[in-house]
Amino acid sequence: MWSISRRKSLLNCPRQYVMRYSRSQEKWKYSNNLVELSLKDLMIRSSRKLMLERLEDHKNGIEWSSRMVQLKLKLGLKVEMNLERYEQVKRKESRYLNDLINSAKNKIDSLWNTEIFKRIISSEIRQWSVMDRKKFFSDGHIDIFCSPDICYKIQNKWNLLRIDFQGERKNASSELEGMAMVNWAKRNNFLPLVTEQYIVHTLKYIGGVWIHEKYFPSEEKLQQSKQLLEKDVNAMNNLVNKMGPLMDLSQIPLSNSQSNCNKCSFKQLCPAKDGLEQSKIEQNSIEYNSVKIRFESK
Ligand code: SF4
Repeated sequence: MWSISRRKSLLNCPRQYVMRYSRSQEKWKYSNNLVELSLKDLMIRSSRKLMLERLEDHKNGIEWSSRMVQLKLKLGLKVEMNLERYEQVKRKESRYLNDLINSAKNKIDSLWNTEIFKRIISSEIRQWSVMDRKKFFSDGHIDIFCSPDICYKIQNKWNLLRIDFQGERKNASSELEGMAMVNWAKRNNFLPLVTEQYIVHTLKYIGGVWIHEKYFPSEEKLQQSKQLLEKDVNAMNNLVNKMGPLMDLSQIPLSNSQSNCNKCSFKQLCPAKDGLEQSKIEQNSIEYNSVKIRFESK
C-alpha cells in the first residue's frame, strides 16, 4: 500500500514508519499517557474533516460563521480524542488545548484566503467537487491512495488539488508525488484519459503560510511517478522484513532530525526520547556488535 503520509513517515523516520504502519503496529499502540503527544495529529485530522464539511456546506448554500468554525474544531477534536480523554486533557492542559484550537482556526481562515479557495467560494470557479481520499487504485500488486482533495475545471483543464496541513518544503520528488494524482484521476471513470488535460496543484501549510505549488504532467513524468511509488513500496517492505519474526526494532534506523522526534507520537516508546544523537550512537554500536558476533561465529 502507498500513500503520501506513508511516504512522508518513511522518509522522516523509518522507525516511526514501522510503528505506525506495519502490520505489527498493535504492539505499539498509543498508551494513555501518550495522549498529549498525539494531540497535534488529532487536530490536523479534525481540521481536514472540517475543511471538507465546510466546502460541502458551501456547495449547498450554507455558510459558516467564524464562531461556527471554532465550535466545529472543538467538537471535532473531542470526537477524535473521545470525551474522556478530552476532559482529562482539558483539566490538566486547558491553555494548551485552547492554543491548539486557535491555531487550527487560523490555519483554516488562511486556507479560505488562498487564491484557489477565494475563487471557489466566490463562484469564479464553478465546476468543482470534493474527492474521497479513501478511493484508491491498484497498480499491479500495490494499492495506491493518492486522490486529490478537490478537483476543479477551468475551461478545458482539470485541476487536481491536494491540501497538506502538515506540509514539507519542496524537494526533488515533490513533482512526482503530485503526478500520482494524475495516475489516480486517469483511472476514474468521470475524469479524462488525456494527460495534458490535467494540472496538478498542492497547497502546503509550511511555517505559518499556505504555499501553492503547480505542476504540468507528461507521460514521462507519470511513468517516473509510478517508478518512485514502486521504489517506496520496496523500501517499506524491506524495512518491515528487517525486523524479523520477533519484531526487533533495535536495527530499524532512527530519524535524522531532532525536529521529527519533537513532534513524534511514538517518542515515549523510542530510545530517542532521551536524545536522538546518543540513541543513534547506541544503535550503531548494537549493529556493530551483531555484525561482529556473526563474523566471529563463522
Ligand atoms: S522519536 Fe524520533 S527516532 Fe523515535 S520514532 Fe519518533 S521520529 Fe523516530
